[in-house]
Amino acid sequence: MSIADDIVAACKRLEREGLNRGASGNISVRDGNEMLITPSGVPYDQLDGSMMARMSLEDDGGEWEGTHKPSSEWRFHKDILRNRPDANAVVHTHAQFSTILAIARKPIPAIHYMIAAFGGPEIRVSDYALYGTSELSQNILKALNGRSGCLMANHGMVVAGKDLTRTMWLAGELEALAHQYYHALAIGGGHILTDAEIEETARGFETYGVQSKGE
Ligand code: 13P
Ligand code: ZN
Repeated sequence: MSIADDIVAACKRLEREGLNRGASGNISVRDGNEMLITPSGVPYDQLDGSMMARMSLEDDGGEWEGTHKPSSEWRFHKDILRNRPDANAVVHTHAQFSTILAIARKPIPAIHYMIAAFGGPEIRVSDYALYGTSELSQNILKALNGRSGCLMANHGMVVAGKDLTRTMWLAGELEALAHQYYHALAIGGGHILTDAEIEETARGFETYGVQSKGE
């Protein structure tokens, strides 16, 4: 499958899994020194690969190629891919529990060891700015420092990972953490793991998972 088709499949999965609705949210994937990004305002059920916009990552301008204008959030997608060589895909959603915490401006503390997958003991909330602005993009870059995900005040969440598969996984995990924290708050907030416990988990993750002999 082409990168464009992979993005369409991921968009449809976000909608199927309840992480996005209608035309909310957007996805980009690095392709050499360019990125492919979802078009603006097209509902996921009408999306096809030919609608993806292509933009250079060599400058911070808004030039694009394609049949449909890129997502209104092209700035933060571009800025993340330009500033984070470790990231090759960016997923933005308005997933319910992430957005509720973002509205309450509550960062997610280390309520579960899975937070270690995001690079540290807390998921930050980026300061509020109007959608599509470079101010929003700068706020997100700050909240993402050393992390692979953050909440966006009164808006939603964004995750960035080494490829689209990993980034989609991060989106689901972030929403799961937000869901758990929302309910933990309802029964008093819960116990927070220490920084050392999260570091220990992160070290464990380096060797966790399916491994075949010789790896
Ligand atoms: P686009 O349809 O322009 O990608 O906008 C959706 C969105 O989530 C804006 O933040
Ligand atoms: Zn949005």
